Amino acid sequence: MDYFNFREQTLWCEDVSVEEIASKVGTPFYLYSHKTLVHHFRVFDLAFGEVPHIICFSVKANSNLSILRIFVAEGGGVDIVSGGELYRALQVGVDPMKIVYSGVGKTLDEIDYALKTGILMFNVESSEELGVINERACAMGKLARIALRVNPDVDPKTHPHISTGLKSNKFGIDIEKSREEYRRAKGLSNIEVIGVDCHIGSQVTQIAPFVDALDRLKNLISLLKKDGIEVEYLDLGGGLGITYNDELPPHPEQYAKAILGASGDLKCTFILEPGRVIVGNAGILVTRVLYNKSTDQKNFVIIDAGMNDLIRPSLYSSYHLIQPVVMKGRESIVADVVGPICESGDFLAKGRTIPRVERGELLAVMSAGAYGFTMSSNYNSRPRIAEVLVRDDQFFVIRERESYRDLVRGEDVPNFLK
Ligand SMILES: *Cc1c(COP(=O)(O)O)cnc(C)c1O
Repeated sequence: MDYFNFREQTLWCEDVSVEEIASKVGTPFYLYSHKTLVHHFRVFDLAFGEVPHIICFSVKANSNLSILRIFVAEGGGVDIVSGGELYRALQVGVDPMKIVYSGVGKTLDEIDYALKTGILMFNVESSEELGVINERACAMGKLARIALRVNPDVDPKTHPHISTGLKSNKFGIDIEKSREEYRRAKGLSNIEVIGVDCHIGSQVTQIAPFVDALDRLKNLISLLKKDGIEVEYLDLGGGLGITYNDELPPHPEQYAKAILGASGDLKCTFILEPGRVIVGNAGILVTRVLYNKSTDQKNFVIIDAGMNDLIRPSLYSSYHLIQPVVMKGRESIVADVVGPICESGDFLAKGRTIPRVERGELLAVMSAGAYGFTMSSNYNSRPRIAEVLVRDDQFFVIRERESYRDLVRGEDVPNFLK
């Protein structure tokens, strides 16, 4: 459910017209609905309400400080994958004991930063990483709380680029080998084993893979018990999918019910790391039509947003609904909706049936709140675009559009070139 609705043929976000925002901030821009964000967080949180749990929002899905702040105010924690994300989390006052740190390539500096912060736990992704965390904790006189991210080898049946829980993926530690690794962890001086973690992939639209993964983790937890290792935290990662087009993902309540049902009499605190399901449908990308162009073979709608602003269609062949901000009765055409970037891969839709739009008209690219701005770049020296948050009848620019000056910040031309 979201709060982007048409009123008399015109798109509104809560009680603000999208046209009005566009006229004030220019295009393109990302637009988020506060009410939708809060609603999505609460529904997810409430679904796990009957058991001890922490909702650790996955910062990489949308890392804007204001967005993070919304979840912190709701009592949420964060799942981070870099020192930069840790910095962001601390900027908005996340309780360190609600921070979990995943990722296969944590650097020494990042590990030190997290140890100094006193995060809840590292989700350790390799044997070598475990050793390094122990060494750094030793050097700093700290105890590092950890979970091993195990790879349960389940097929999440999602796009190959966003599946992470298969044996062939780079993530986690093979579940078969993890018991041995846990025993080793237990023997390390500055490591405290507190959890088990997995994350099987993203945009997962079925329940079965989550339940399969949980079954395997439960089995591991009972083996660990025999080794004298008590698991306090069970981190099931994120990955619940959303509707972009015609997908029918489980509702968070069904998802939680299935997980809690399958967890049996496990006594632990659940950690969930949702990203997309919270922010995906709470944001859109607003763009303007620059030109229409037709060749013998194709129609092109050329817009002012490109693959550098929203890369999902190019990267994963993702579908985003694209609709005019002002609906008028008119005929449909089949067109590629493309950006200004000098790449043939620069498209937001291919072969799409859309109304015949006019130069200067606004378009809304729906479901763009997750992995939209965070994956954007300056390719073609395009300033990154503004982000706007609506709350009721007001809107706030929560990230300014970058300037040309921002584009060259930090660059230097050595004297011999001057
Ligand atoms: C990306 C990621 C998530 C969030 O995934 P969504 O599909 O956005 O819910 C959670 N945990 C880890 C470890 C991740 O890498």
